[in-house]
Amino acid sequence: MNQINNIEERTCLKCKRQMPLEHNYCSSCGTGWGKYVHWYYKHWGIILLILLLGPFAMFFVILSPVVSKPLKWIYTLIIAIFTIFLVVEACELYRMLSQVYKLFSYSSVF
Ligand SMILES: [Zn+2]
Repeated sequence: MNQINNIEERTCLKCKRQMPLEHNYCSSCGTGWGKYVHWYYKHWGIILLILLLGPFAMFFVILSPVVSKPLKWIYTLIIAIFTIFLVVEACELYRMLSQVYKLFSYSSVF
């Protein structure tokens, strides 16, 4: 709310333009306000997307008007650690599956 000019407006979290207080969405960029912010920009939505999309959730972290800049760095760190974990686990799974494959191919020969 802009209290200096006594106008019933607030600043859009994303594009920084003024929007009337009664509007729930910015007329310029479509960003919601308060409970009208899209679910994928809220904290629980970002955490869900990190679990579902891994490193691709970074897109929503960067564009989120709700998440503050220091928190964006923390989310980035979490996504990086989670991505490294996923890559290590995928390599381990590949190694295990190739051993199982070798075991089956040896046993079929004899
Ligand atoms: Zn806007």
